[in-house]
Amino acid sequence: MAQVVLKEIVKQYGSLYAVNNVSLTVEDGEFVALVGPSGCGKTTTLNLVAGLLPMTGGDVLIGDRNVTDLDPKDRDIAMVFQNYALYPNKTVYKNLAFPLQMRKLSKAEIDTKVMDAAKVLDIVHLLQRKPRELSGGQQQRVALGRALVRDPQVFLMDEPLSNLDAKLRVQMRTELKRFHQDLKATVIYVTHDQLEAVTMADKMAVMSGGFLQQYDSPKNVFEHPVNMFVASFVGSPAMSLIPLEAINTGGKIALSSSEGWQLPLSEANSKKAQTASTSKIVLGARHSTLQLHKSKESNSVPGRVYTVEPTGDVTFVQVFLGGATVIVSLDPSVDVKSDQEVWIEFDQERLHLFDGETEMALT
Ligand code: ATP
Repeated sequence: MAQVVLKEIVKQYGSLYAVNNVSLTVEDGEFVALVGPSGCGKTTTLNLVAGLLPMTGGDVLIGDRNVTDLDPKDRDIAMVFQNYALYPNKTVYKNLAFPLQMRKLSKAEIDTKVMDAAKVLDIVHLLQRKPRELSGGQQQRVALGRALVRDPQVFLMDEPLSNLDAKLRVQMRTELKRFHQDLKATVIYVTHDQLEAVTMADKMAVMSGGFLQQYDSPKNVFEHPVNMFVASFVGSPAMSLIPLEAINTGGKIALSSSEGWQLPLSEANSKKAQTASTSKIVLGARHSTLQLHKSKESNSVPGRVYTVEPTGDVTFVQVFLGGATVIVSLDPSVDVKSDQEVWIEFDQERLHLFDGETEMALT
């Protein structure tokens, strides 16, 4: 396996920058997920690494080779796509064997490699079947097997689970993770499903508008989003963001809402707020860090329940706080109703502050 380095890669279509100056290093054996909303440039980035598209600028290094000018077949990568792209008239065995026949390996070598891959993926019993005789999950495993037999330096995967139903997706997610751990493979994986990324990847590359917004472990991206885009993209339900105005109250900062309430900040948060380029501050809070009170408590701010959404294990409650809504998660046994007046308490240790102009996190 090998390290992959993207150096200032650019892909332009006319005046549109599909990928804009993206640099990142995928370490040897790392699983990196490229995530972001539709059209942010994930697939284009992957295709540039694969060599399927000409680059406008930048370099791609795989291992110690600069592969920028090499054809896909010479880059020592294997791709797994959303639609599997299996040969419908060949058996599973022949689907796996085909890339090896193209490389002119001997029959015995092909047999060993196909059997090894089939064992890893638990598809030995399916080798004589045709793709149409397989379930979606089994087809997906064959597609992985076809990548695996090639023993590439890097696996590139583009939404490989998106054609599977919800239950199978979860199961295949676990299997892919296991596959990565067992093989210590270098994997670059495109998904629009941030849960997939969080559960499988060592690192997430969060993209928006062709730019790389943040590249870090899922934990750090979740706990320390660098800007409002990342904060609202990662986590489900999304982080609540409330636009407020910073006011100085004798050295300390309080955040003031258009509704008239004020939230005094702790000393540490006051310091952060003072580094903003503006008095406009956006307060961010994840649902699990908020407390809902049914009567007024000190340090809490007034709001009104908008919707109550029971999900079984947990009930999500949307609360109007004036100018914005926040989502709070509650134990299902707590009884609240739409339009009820409530008070919301923020955990000062776990709230996020963003500059209202630049949208960057204040740290
Ligand atoms: P999705 O999740 O919807 O697949 P994505 O993040 O993979 O999206 P890309 O397919 O990489 O996004 O596309 C990035 C941008 O480049 C989009 O705005 C897209 O419309 C544009 N784009 C992609 N291919 C072309 C093309 N051949 N010609 C012009 N624009 C293109």
